[in-house]
Amino acid sequence: MKTVRIGIVLPEDARRELRVRSLADMLRVNGERSDKTTWTLHAEGETIDDGDRRVAKLSIEPVTTPEQPQLVVENVRAGRGFHWEQAINITLPGTIEVTVRDDALMLVNELPLETYLAGVLTSEMSGECPLEFLKAQCVTARSWMIAATERKHADLGIDFCNDDCCQRFQGIASVTDAARRAADETAGEVMVHDSGVVVDANYSKSCGGIVEAPVHVWGHDKPGQYAVADGPADDGVARFFPLAADAVVDYVGGSWLKRCRAWCSPNVVPDADLPRYLGRIDDGGGHFRWRVSYTADELCAILNRKRRLSASRIRDLAVTRRGVSGRATAMTVDYVADDGGRRTETIEDQYAIRDALSASFLYSSAFDIRVARDAEGWPTRIELIGAGWGHGAGLCQIGALGMALSGFDYRAILHHYFTNMQIERIGGTS
Ligand SMILES: [Zn+2]
Ligand SMILES: [Zn+2]
Repeated sequence: MKTVRIGIVLPEDARRELRVRSLADMLRVNGERSDKTTWTLHAEGETIDDGDRRVAKLSIEPVTTPEQPQLVVENVRAGRGFHWEQAINITLPGTIEVTVRDDALMLVNELPLETYLAGVLTSEMSGECPLEFLKAQCVTARSWMIAATERKHADLGIDFCNDDCCQRFQGIASVTDAARRAADETAGEVMVHDSGVVVDANYSKSCGGIVEAPVHVWGHDKPGQYAVADGPADDGVARFFPLAADAVVDYVGGSWLKRCRAWCSPNVVPDADLPRYLGRIDDGGGHFRWRVSYTADELCAILNRKRRLSASRIRDLAVTRRGVSGRATAMTVDYVADDGGRRTETIEDQYAIRDALSASFLYSSAFDIRVARDAEGWPTRIELIGAGWGHGAGLCQIGALGMALSGFDYRAILHHYFTNMQIERIGGTS
């Protein structure tokens, strides 16, 4: 795999018009040299109208090297469906291909694999991160790509999309020398499990103190991934691992947190420093611990919308199953329906729970539920006190950053988050 095809604008974005700007003096458009500087592309039936012609496929290729910035695509969706969704302009190298699919424009970027990885590094986090963090993130992202067990978009003829659904790729405008160096110095390196397979290496923003086991996220084990306390052996977080149901309250909100030295905790990576390390579409804090508060009516409305319930009143909420990091994997909502009957809604899977309990999307499903009630016992206010950001399995990005800031090199970081594996250089990717 020397080049990759990344879906930048997908059919689901339902775009009928796209604006593209050239950064090069000369490009090749459907094989012919062109010095055009901007394109406004429209979907017209099965074809694309670029102002000059109608074609079934528009291909814009560089005349010189594929690693250099060539084009800017305006208003690309980033963070589809998450609380951080926004439209951004992105700068792309390589070749751009535009087609019409399902009545919408689809835009694919084909580019060299290592150029793509440098772009992933500075989209997932910022290029300001220390080199050893960037190298650890790079080997993790490369392993995930090469293992490629999740081909979510094979029907679209692309390897990956540009978003959190696969891994973030927001172009190469923010690529720094450190990101380029991290990709170069680890070129071709992946984690290989003792069984011989490349580790299908996942990562998320913050585990919250305990790295989750893959079985509690995807329903099955993954070779090379495991659950672990994300801190030094003598840190207080180790005593919570694996997290028992009766320890959740203390884990998410106890006074021990003031002294906690978990790699992803604000005592190691201060919240004030995070904005310069995080990706450009992430909101400020690290969300090692967070709180979300609703009136009972607000949460009832959210649940009605997200779960298509017809609830008039919530009676109670309870987590019925958790993973080893405290992430809820099953919960129940008892409510009174519009017809007056009592019902129970069961929500399974951490992703579905994060979706159900937020107007947009909850940071994680590792939370304790606190319910304030009126004199008759009806909930008035519901508060979620939570830990971590993301599914929490595999590499903890803020934790890996904390380890790098504490002096660990990328190999030590990877051996902390993954197990029974070696870091090996494989052919054909450098
Ligand atoms: Zn995807
Ligand atoms: Zn962590």
